[in-house]
Amino acid sequence: MADTFTKEQRSQIMRQVKSSRNKSTELNLIQFFKDNSIKGWRRSYNLFGRPDFVFPLTKKAVFVDGCFWHGHNCRNTKPKDNKDYWQQKISRNKKRDRAVTKTLKSNGWTVIRIWECQLKNERALRNKLTNKSA
Ligand SMILES: [Zn+2]
Repeated sequence: MADTFTKEQRSQIMRQVKSSRNKSTELNLIQFFKDNSIKGWRRSYNLFGRPDFVFPLTKKAVFVDGCFWHGHNCRNTKPKDNKDYWQQKISRNKKRDRAVTKTLKSNGWTVIRIWECQLKNERALRNKLTNKSA
């Protein structure tokens, strides 16, 4: 597979890779939990699919999905070059996400997936995280 990325494109992609699982994403959500008196969450909880946060008592698994890697249909996430290559990787991630969600649900877990770009949207977060039927 020929690498047709420029240096700038590549470093932009690497930044997106990092930001898909970076600390500030988690800290954002922790702050949100605190602001909304949401308790009972755990980080680094050993559960299938490695959720970012787990509420063991209520059996909720929270994933924060990076828009690029998990194929969110929002701006700035569509690769222009090497489209097929990225599309393949992204569709593999999406497939895995679905399998993880399915497995957890069949074990009685509630799965909440939050897009990276929704982290700044307090109302969207509140709907997702406090809606009991979520
Ligand atoms: Zn997004």
